[in-house]
Amino acid sequence: MASTLKQMKEGESVVDHSSAVGGGVDDVYGEDRASEDQLITPWTVSVASGYTLLRDPHHNKGLAFTQRERDSHYLRGLLPPAVATQELQEKKLMQNIRSYEVPLHRYVAMMELEERNERLFYKLLIDNVEELLPVVYTPTVGEACQKYGSIFKRPQGLYISLKEKGKILEVLRNWPERNIQVIVVTDGERILGLGDLGCQGMGIPVGKLALYTALGGVRPSACLPITIDVGTNNQKLLDDEFYIGLRQKRATGKEYYDLLEEFMSAVKQNYGEKVLVQFEDFANHNAFELLAKYRTSHLVFNDDIQGTASVVLAGLVASLKLLGGSLADHTFLFLGAGEAGTGIAELIALEISTKTYIPIDEARKKIWLVDSKGLIVSSRKETLQHFKKPWAHEHEPLSTLLDAVKAIKPSVLIGTSGVGQTFTQDVVEAMAAFNERPLIMALSNPTSQAECTAEQAYTWTQGRAIFSSGSPFDPYEYKGNLFIPGQANNAYIFPGLGFGLVISGAIRVHDEMLLAASEALANQVTQEHYDKGMIYPPLTNIRKISAHIAANVAAKAYDLGLATRLPRPADLVKYAESCMYTPNYRSYR
Ligand code: NAD
Repeated sequence: MASTLKQMKEGESVVDHSSAVGGGVDDVYGEDRASEDQLITPWTVSVASGYTLLRDPHHNKGLAFTQRERDSHYLRGLLPPAVATQELQEKKLMQNIRSYEVPLHRYVAMMELEERNERLFYKLLIDNVEELLPVVYTPTVGEACQKYGSIFKRPQGLYISLKEKGKILEVLRNWPERNIQVIVVTDGERILGLGDLGCQGMGIPVGKLALYTALGGVRPSACLPITIDVGTNNQKLLDDEFYIGLRQKRATGKEYYDLLEEFMSAVKQNYGEKVLVQFEDFANHNAFELLAKYRTSHLVFNDDIQGTASVVLAGLVASLKLLGGSLADHTFLFLGAGEAGTGIAELIALEISTKTYIPIDEARKKIWLVDSKGLIVSSRKETLQHFKKPWAHEHEPLSTLLDAVKAIKPSVLIGTSGVGQTFTQDVVEAMAAFNERPLIMALSNPTSQAECTAEQAYTWTQGRAIFSSGSPFDPYEYKGNLFIPGQANNAYIFPGLGFGLVISGAIRVHDEMLLAASEALANQVTQEHYDKGMIYPPLTNIRKISAHIAANVAAKAYDLGLATRLPRPADLVKYAESCMYTPNYRSYR
């Protein structure tokens, strides 16, 4: 028995309608304003009542249904008598989640909550972001992907396999939501540091999109997780009778690129020019190529390359307050020249070139990379992969990192090799020998793969290092001073960046938007943070940070003529804040 459920204004908490953008349907809760489809979003939403309502995660409130709502929506008797506030429900669930000692159990509890009560899920995530981020995303999501086949009961996104070739547009139309703004897509080939997980990589787009909503404010219904299944080279999965994906080796070459081409065309055909496609956890041979291929024709973004680059650049820009000088005054040395390393290097070069007006080739000369074969130098150029070639500067070949540190004398040392304990005591002491304040970023994940620990960086430099890492480290006390290591977490950037693209209706991602995102993040670091050695602001303020990033990115999109949502709002920070999804319950008539 279906009935119509009317969403009512929530008394005093109603947002000023006059500020609603687009002038069409009033959306007093703000969240629909982030979408241009607000003009056609119906004021009333039809959902089933009674028993079915309790099983609809978009509208279910559990014990928070009031007595009046229970009467109007045929819920009386289907719930125990107590009426709970959303805050009380949150308190109870946090108690439950904290009682699980195994991280994967916490993950499963959160996913089950999302399947049961979407608003409560997001409220928990937003209010307890530092605690729950490692639960719904890395590191726990990695384990969840490894066991994905046995964890999930309901589909959480779209699976597009080689079997769907020629029918991808139809598959997209099977998804229940029409107005999609952000797609996160993976082919599962390089899931975190875990390698090829094939179809089970789905946990990654699902987790990443939860963060787009919780940290960035994109509506959950506008997010679409997709896994492209072209097979897997993971023999263990192929031999596993419970494996959920295609049971074949990975398709490569033309077959692979033809499927991706059909996918990208179908996405544009179905959702238009303004849908953001974020490529996630593709192996680096495909990641660079897909980004290069589609960045001029679609709104695409690769978090592993561009998001990482932007968050690290933000840390570098912020650290200049502690180090002194401008970026151009520093010399950078990387260990690891893959997606993260070369992506960061390129954005640093672009920022230097933009700020000093020197050609990008000149700016690149400030940046050196070491890969598994040693310092990348011009005599190796012929044998280098194409994305390493711009970094092959004139220098004699050097085979070890220590030799490279001694010869290049960098002020900034960045680890993106994926190999733990490679910033040895010798290396860190060498950095401290010629830098008053060596900046050391040990970005490899997980914690066990960090190039060095926070404790090592601080003790080997007698407390002079500015340290940040990819995985979190606890604050460390050294000779009576408390140092708080920064975490160069991509979650600082991509939700705000994506939201900025959505609210401006941008049609392309331009590198200058990444610089804008970095600058906005760096500006959120206050003197109080610097005093503790921090070069990133605390994640607790992430919604505010995301609004500032979104505003800066949107401003750049308007400046570059890439924004389609007109007119340009006068105050973009306020506009971004007003567009953000909020997870508070609605009252139903
Ligand atoms: P990738 O596989 O693309 O690149 C790794 C690179 O390191 C390759 O070029 C490889 O040749 C090189 N390498 C491997 N062993 C080496 C060694 N012993 N010495 C020198 N170089 C070596 O991987 P990626 O996507 O660039 O990620 C690298 C690491 O960075 C991962 O651990 C990842 O978790 C981390 N990362 C951190 C962040 C962050 O902190 N926000 C973001 C992205 C990636």
